[in-house]
Formats: sequence, C-alpha cells, structure tokens
Amino acid sequence: MPHDEAALPVRHGSNPVQPNAVHHSGYALVLDSLTRLHNRVYIAECLQQLLKSPRAARVGVLFIDLDGFSKINDIGGYDLGDSILRDAASRLAGLMDQQGLLGRIGSDGFLIVADDHGNPLTLVAFAQRILDLFAVPFEVAGAEYYLGVSIGMARSVHDTRDASALIRDAGSAMRRAKQSGRAEFFNKDMQDQLQRRFRIETLLRHARAAGELKLVYQPIVDSASGETVGAEALLRWTSGELGDVAPAEFIPVAEEAGLMESIGDWVLEQACAQAGQWRWSFAPHVAVSVNISPLQFNEHLVRHVAACLERSGLDASALQLEITERGLMPDEPAVSATVAALVKLGVRLSIDDFGTGYASLSYLKRFALHNLKIDRSFIQSLPHDRESVAITHAVVTMAHALGMTATAEGVETREQATALFEMGCDMLQGYLFSRPASPAEFADALSDADLGNKWCAVPQSNP
Ligand SMILES: [Mg+2]
Repeated sequence: MPHDEAALPVRHGSNPVQPNAVHHSGYALVLDSLTRLHNRVYIAECLQQLLKSPRAARVGVLFIDLDGFSKINDIGGYDLGDSILRDAASRLAGLMDQQGLLGRIGSDGFLIVADDHGNPLTLVAFAQRILDLFAVPFEVAGAEYYLGVSIGMARSVHDTRDASALIRDAGSAMRRAKQSGRAEFFNKDMQDQLQRRFRIETLLRHARAAGELKLVYQPIVDSASGETVGAEALLRWTSGELGDVAPAEFIPVAEEAGLMESIGDWVLEQACAQAGQWRWSFAPHVAVSVNISPLQFNEHLVRHVAACLERSGLDASALQLEITERGLMPDEPAVSATVAALVKLGVRLSIDDFGTGYASLSYLKRFALHNLKIDRSFIQSLPHDRESVAITHAVVTMAHALGMTATAEGVETREQATALFEMGCDMLQGYLFSRPASPAEFADALSDADLGNKWCAVPQSNP
C-alpha cells in the first residue's frame, strides 16, 4: 500500500510464513502455528490499540476468506488444506509492506489491518490486488487448485473504538460478498464509490475532446492596494453524464489513471493563452498561476512551459507555477533539475497549500522559489486563533527573509484581510474578493477595477 511518514506503526511479524521463522515460547502467544502469521487474539489487541490512537480514523480492516476451502479438505485431506493455507498466507504476506498487520483469523480466514489514508479507495485498490493474487491457482504436488477469495472491508469511520466490532463488520461484509459473487466483495457504499471512480476515469479520457473541461480564474489582489495583480487558473469539469465533478474527486483519478500529464498540458496551454491575451489587451500587469501536479513535475513540463510561453507571447515572469510540498520531496535529482530549468526559463515558482504537507523545510533552502501560498486552514481561523496567527505570521516573515513573497488563500472576511495586511502578507485570494470567475467575468471585473474597490487596506470611514 502507498505510505507516508504518518502511517501505521510497524507491527508486521518477521517474515511470518517462512518455515524456519524464529519460534520460541513467547511467539506461540502471538503467532498462528500453521502459517506463522499473527493470530486472532494478537491482531485484535493491536487493532484495539490503534483505535485508541490519533490515527484511528485511518484504520481499515480487510477480512479475506478462501472460497470453497472446505471442499479441499474433502478432496485431499488436511495436508492439502494446510499447504494451501500456507501458500495463501505467503501470498498475502508478500503484499504487505512495513506497515499494517496480517493475521490468520479462522480456519481459512485472514485479516489485514491497514492504513487507508482516510480514503476508502485505498482499501478497494488493496482488495483488488488481493483478488488478482488469488486468480493464480495453487499448485500442490503437481495438481492445480483454483480458489478465489471473498473480501469484506470495514473502516473505522463513525468513531468506531471497538476492535471486535470492526472485525465483525468486515466479517459480515465478507459474507455478503460470498452471497453476491466474488466481485462484489465490499459494502454498498464502497462498491458505489468504486463504480463511480471507474466511470470518472472512463469519462475523463474523453472530457477534453468533448469540450467538458474549462478553466475559471480566481483573482489574486495586492494586500495593500486591493489591485488585482493576478489570477489562479482552476480546472473545472462538467461531465455530460455526471454533471459537475469536483476537482478534489477527479484530479486523483486523473493522476492514478495516467491522465494528468495531458490534462495538465491543456491547462497550461489555455491559461498562458488567456493571460497573454489579457495582458496584451488591457491588463499588462496581470499574472497567472497554474497548479502543477507532482506527476507533471519533469522534463516534459519544462519543454511544455517553454512552448506555451512561446505560443502565447506571455512573459515568463507573468506565469507562476503552484506546486505542493509533496511535489518537492524527496531528494530526487530530477526535481532539482526541473526546478532549475524552470527558474532558468524565468517563471515564478510557488509552494501551494504551504504548511499542510511535509514538515521538512530543507527544500526552501535548496530551491530558488518565489512565493509561499499559506494554506486556507490557517487563514480561516484568523484573526482570533492565536496559533493560526503565530503560524501565519511566521510563514510571512520566513518568506520575506528568504527573499520570497507570501500569498494567503481562502480569505473570506475583511478582518482576515486586515490581519494579513498587518502581518505583511503580500497577496490575498479568496471569496472576499471574488469567487473563481469565467474568463469573461474576470475581464469585466478587471476593466471595472471592481475588485480593487472591495478592498483597501487603509481603513475606510464607511466600510
Ligand atoms: Mg493552488
């Protein structure tokens, strides 16, 4: 499973299925003697501990049961059954990385406790890998035995704090899976989500050609003057079949399905052309910000940015690329090379959602970046929440000390804007000024200087 630094603790047994695994009296209490996996009592105990920890909301449980196992014992006796169970355990152990727990929980039942990263689809994807694994027949003494599996899943949403309840839920989902056929192995909600995910993937492949994608632009204003100095281009998708699909839903699908590069190329192309046109016709000072997925962050991006600038006639300095902290980690030479090449082109680089990603700041020192975009979660609790004030202030100060500018996103009230101005935050973005607007609306607002009139840091007598 994918993992990050905040994943579940390592509790996976030491190569549990190896026949020669260490086995002294202490292990007998926690290991299943046949498969050397954790036993039911131990795995339930660990699960109980996890459910009491701060990570409880990310815990997922998969209950895996072999289909038709009872027949195996009838056909070949317990020796055959035992070989197959050991092989099944070994296959599952091969899927586990350093996180999560695997155990045997009944005669032919296995339990996996995994970090679902707050997303049920993580579990669904994991379950799919298990199904694929059991599509391969078991081979014992030259004969092949096909045994599928049924999988039930449960997550610790709704504040589940009871390990046995969670295991029971996963077990009943597994029994439903048995009844309805092997493919429908999870509960209705998860199944609906998976079906929707696949539908999104299919439709998204044609969305660009069908003209269903568009960009909207959210103004970015100067914190002192209220003048609109730029706009963030935001991707929107209105599917003919599904209606409006939120970027938070379709972007991860695009990333997983390998569609991000082509969609990202289109976004850059459109945004540069649009900004080029605005600057040429009536707003020579306006810059455009474009969000870049970590998956786009490579050599191709550099070439494409250069091509878009060339075609649109847009000044490189009027293009800002927003990258999340996730995109700048870890220490990959390719990342440094991409940053260096983009800086050489003259485009501005901004860290998006600053403060929510990796806590390492070393990349700020290493890379020549231009702007920090402070995450909305800090802005929203301004100006009354002391911690948010402290963090925001520190980020602005740090940005300036490093020769960077700071932008606050999610600004909704005048109080927030005033506090940010007083902290020295350079630019502001949010509903206080404007919702994301169509290109025509944005152009209107720019030429009327409407947005600027809504905000001026100098206190007005009649606000
Ligand atoms: Mg952004």
